Amino acid sequence: MKLNVYPTIFLPGSQVTTGFGWDPYTFPSRPRIHTAIDRAGPGVVRCPLEAERSVWIDDDAEGCSVLRLFFSGGELRLLHFIRGELDSGALAAGLSGAGLALGDPIGPAGNHGLSVKAKGGTGRHVHCSLVLEPGQYDGDLEARIGSIWHNDYSTDYRARYGQPFVAQAKQRGIKWMNAHIIARFDPYYNGALRFYVNPAVYGL
Ligand SMILES: [Zn+2]
Repeated sequence: MKLNVYPTIFLPGSQVTTGFGWDPYTFPSRPRIHTAIDRAGPGVVRCPLEAERSVWIDDDAEGCSVLRLFFSGGELRLLHFIRGELDSGALAAGLSGAGLALGDPIGPAGNHGLSVKAKGGTGRHVHCSLVLEPGQYDGDLEARIGSIWHNDYSTDYRARYGQPFVAQAKQRGIKWMNAHIIARFDPYYNGALRFYVNPAVYGL
């Protein structure tokens, strides 16, 4: 999967607030698989790829908005922007379904912390999730995932989600689920097989 990504989606000085993979810390009572990287920091986030179309979805009941950026082979989801702070061009594209060009401004990255207003969040960050179709898994991605691929968290996942979850992943040829994760918990799951990739392997 040779994604052409914009190298400065986040400006220097931004920080990872939550990494990709198993996350027992953010919601201690509800450990989860974090299928994204959370970044916070100064400046404006720019469209990191050539998006053929985009979809803006306003805050849900928990205060999470989504900008979905579609490209051939997958999509990038950017969560937690505030509608009134979006770049007017990005908002217009997301509302009409139009595409966005590599480097187009989207909106401010925010500063820190949780953005889920209903849960008392006081800051913002951008939750950046890369979702690919299985056919996009190729040698390029294998090489990018590299050593991350080989960290085995299957014991954690088995304890949390049960053996059928692990067995299903193995059936689909997914070796270790901290590197990419089947779409079982995807709120936009449409029946098609997809998997999550750590956006960091593309420099996002
Ligand atoms: Zn997140």
